[in-house]
Formats: sequence, C-alpha cells, structure tokens
Amino acid sequence: MKTYLVNEDGFYGEFGGAFVPEILHKCVEELKDTYLEVLQSEDFKQEFNSLLRDYVGRPSPLYLAKRLSAQYGCKIYLKREDLNHTGAHKINNTIGQILLARRMGKKRIIAETGAGQHGVATATVCALMNMECVVYMGKTDVERQHANVQKMRMLGATVSPVTSGNMTLKDATNEAIRDWCCHPADTYYIIGSTVGPHPYPDMVARLQSVISEEIKKQLLDQEGRDYPDYLIACVGGGSNAAGTIYHYIDDERVKIVLAEAGGKGVNSGFSAATIQLGKMGIIHGACTLVMQDEDGQIVEPYSISAGLDYPGIGPIHANLATEHRATVLAINDDEALKAAFELTRIEGIIPALESAHALGALSKLKFKPEDVIVLTVSGRGDKDMDTYIHEMEKNKEDGNEKL
Ligand SMILES: *Cc1c(COP(=O)(O)O)cnc(C)c1O
Repeated sequence: MKTYLVNEDGFYGEFGGAFVPEILHKCVEELKDTYLEVLQSEDFKQEFNSLLRDYVGRPSPLYLAKRLSAQYGCKIYLKREDLNHTGAHKINNTIGQILLARRMGKKRIIAETGAGQHGVATATVCALMNMECVVYMGKTDVERQHANVQKMRMLGATVSPVTSGNMTLKDATNEAIRDWCCHPADTYYIIGSTVGPHPYPDMVARLQSVISEEIKKQLLDQEGRDYPDYLIACVGGGSNAAGTIYHYIDDERVKIVLAEAGGKGVNSGFSAATIQLGKMGIIHGACTLVMQDEDGQIVEPYSISAGLDYPGIGPIHANLATEHRATVLAINDDEALKAAFELTRIEGIIPALESAHALGALSKLKFKPEDVIVLTVSGRGDKDMDTYIHEMEKNKEDGNEKL
C-alpha cells in the first residue's frame, strides 16, 4: 500500500534522508539504530504518557467552536495545543527526546531556537530532568525575544548568542550542529521540528502524533466517527501539522490543508512560503524544498510570526505538497492578524500568531454545512501581545474602532 510516512531509507518520496558531515555520521546512525526501539518500548511509553498527562496536561481538549462554525458554515473543532504547559505543542517533542537522550546515556542537551519557543520547551525539560542545557540562538533573535531568553536563563539553561550570518534561526542551527560535531559522545541534540537529518523528522512526527491519536478518540466520542473531512494546521518546520495528520495521512477521506507564512505576499520578497517558493536542495541535513537564490544560497525568510520563518520545510510536507495529498495555502501577515482577532472576539481564545495562519486558511476554503473540520491551535498568543497591541493601535489611528 502507498504510504506518505517515511520509508526504510529515511525518505518521503524524493525528500528527506540524512546528508551530514562525516563526523556526525556516527551520531546520526546511533540515533537511527536506537530511536524506534526506545519509542516503542513499554518503559518509554509509560514514562512519556504519564508526563504528557500529569506534566503537560494532556489530552488537550477538542473544542467545538460554535460561533466560529456559524461564521464559516460548517462544524469546526479546535485542537487546543495552546492549553499545554509552556503554551504550545513543542513540549510534546522535547519531553520525548529528553527521555530518549537519557536512555542513550547522554549527559548534555543542546538545541537551536529562533523565537525562543523551542528553547524554552527544551530548557523546561532539562530543568525537569536535571540535565545541562545549551541553547543556540541568533544574536538578532536574542535581542528581539528578550522574554524567552530570560525564561531560558531562569530555567537554568545557557543561552549562547550566535553572530554568524544573519544571526537568526538558520545560523543558530548551524552552530548547534557544530557543537554536536565537537561533542558527539556525551551530547544529545534536541531538534524542535520535523526537520534535520533522518531520523529526526520521523521521530518528531511520532512524538507529536499524540495529537492525532487524541483527535481520533475525541471525534469518535463527540461526532460518532473518528475522522474529520478536513485537517488544518500551520507549518513552520511542520511538527504540529505532522502530529495533527499523522494517523490520517494515508486516509484519503481526510483532506489536509497546510498554512504556510506568506509574509507580506508570496512574491513580495518578504515571505516564508517555502513550499511555494522553495526548490529542491539540502538544508540542515535533509533534502527538501529550500528558499534559495540561483547560487543555492539560502534566502532569508520573513514572516510576522517568528515560529514560521524557516527557509526549509519538513520533508514529510514537501512530499505531501508535491504529491498533491495536501493543499498548501500561503497566509499573509495581514490575513493572519485578522484571523487572530476574529478568533479572539468570537471564541475568547487569543491564538499564537503561528496558529493564526491556520485560522486564516478558513476563509480561503469552501465548506459544506455537514463538513467536520479539525484545526490545530498550536499555541497561545501571550508571546505575541506586543504585535497584537501594535495592530490595535494602528487600527485605532485608522479610525477602525472595532479592533
Ligand atoms: C514553533 C511553533 C510553530 C511552528 O513549528 P512547527 O514545527 O511547524 O509546528 C507553530 N506554532 C507555534 C505556537 C509554535 O511555537
């Protein structure tokens, strides 16, 4: 049977694989030889599931948003990852990977972070498990994401500012890889999304698949059938989307909609719409769609949402898009902002800007009244309040009192 999940060689169609420098080959091989056995062991599952329940607060609710449903003429359920401890889905993955790191006998954890969300999720589980934690973060991001830097420090992590390149996420990732090369024996690298060399994309997708596992049960309870007509999620690297679709990926009754960040417009030169703008290339150890110029140099992505501006995309999604299994929509900054205010005003839920891109997809789709939609709210909007406040002030100046 055709599957959109990873094959034995670590590929999704033409995408994926592990393209790493020789010095990391052994680390990646070690991980590849270990992760499935550990993730499938009873001992791991027990510890993982009890932490997800008692520490993260899972299962996250599947909430029937009645007013939002009325607005779009269908039945919309929100999968509330925003209610997790630390405010997003990222904690599902960091808990899983730190449990794996411990079982592999690693003593030291490193991570990359852009906006700081993955850094905070990693620093959180390192505090929980009493492990040394170094987070690489571009200097530009350190300066503009001060609150998250302070959280990581309070949690006991060392935040290491990176001054190469544009001093943003891609440079932080390069630095984390460099660190891993220097300390292959005792260090575990926690990657924050379905990116990087195989087995990371598959491992992160499996750890996040708790999202769709819960959706199945909750839909059966609430709707009498365990599948929706549509699944909608935003994609940066693609981990909340991969978790949302995991158990439905080969079920063609379920339409998959991925919302990527259009920025100021796909062709404006300020965009992070990697699937639409990217060409096949290699980034951070994986073959995938990459935003690059004619010389193969990576083009700096832009989005109002810090969690979505990665110049690559998880290979699983590159393949879903190429095979037309998923519909990919680019949602621009202004559309995401509008959707964030809409959800806030009609459901009383302030979403993360990333999640607002998934919400922005609703107005671009045509639904039937009986359609059941599950949309993942990947995180809460607390971290984005400055942007939202700025938007309200701008609208006030424009005489639009409604916002
Ligand atoms: C990091 C982040 C994302 C993007 O990451 P994915 O791996 O694509 O899920 C989306 N939403 C929130 C709230 C995030 O923090």
